[in-house]
Amino acid sequence: MSQLVHLMLVGAHCGDVELQAGAIAHKYAKAGHAVTFLHLTAGEKGNPPHISVEEYRQQKIQESEKAAAILGAKSITLEYKDAELRANDETITHVAKLFRERKPTHVITHWKHSIHPDHALCPKIVEAAWLKAALPGFEIEGLPPHSLRSMFHSENWEDMQEYDPDIFVDVTEEFDAYLEAISQYWFVMNSTSFRYFEYYKALGTVRGCVNRTTYAQTLKYPVGGNVRKGSAIPGIEL
Ligand SMILES: [Zn+2]
Repeated sequence: MSQLVHLMLVGAHCGDVELQAGAIAHKYAKAGHAVTFLHLTAGEKGNPPHISVEEYRQQKIQESEKAAAILGAKSITLEYKDAELRANDETITHVAKLFRERKPTHVITHWKHSIHPDHALCPKIVEAAWLKAALPGFEIEGLPPHSLRSMFHSENWEDMQEYDPDIFVDVTEEFDAYLEAISQYWFVMNSTSFRYFEYYKALGTVRGCVNRTTYAQTLKYPVGGNVRKGSAIPGIEL
């Protein structure tokens, strides 16, 4: 096995990262790598009829823990409120502290464009927290500096403006567990505003067709993040 990594998936709401890259996460977890799902909010304001926002928050945290257990990941849900996320110093320092404590090597998060403001803030928070966690000049509760190696964006139906995937990952062997995991969420199976389960099952199929595998999930490099430096064109020997 290659060197073990710690893959952390950072999403705006419980359910986001599992839908986006849950099968990729499961693939790494099965291979012995550490995988953590960090939900910045529970996404509690899409509460079903007759369930309060607070009750739905608790329900979503329970659902996230069930999904994470199926996928072989740890699940962390922060206290920030759905649809009120801010890329402010408090949030950035909080995430930077988690980076220093948990030491993720690679982060997967939302793409930078979204119809949901919480989603679009996630990569901004991750990038700022990456810098803050890495710089020795920032004192955070005595924790030693820690730097990520890289971050990637993952695919979400609400974040598709200018999302052209760069990386296709074969998740054929992981897709049954993925579907079981996402089906733990009430909203995935019962939302009347969007057919989540059908969409993500079909998306895995469509991306798999392009990848020449039964199923695939995709990632995207940050803008400017896929730069190669060397003495020749990559893949073309002199
Ligand atoms: Zn979301």
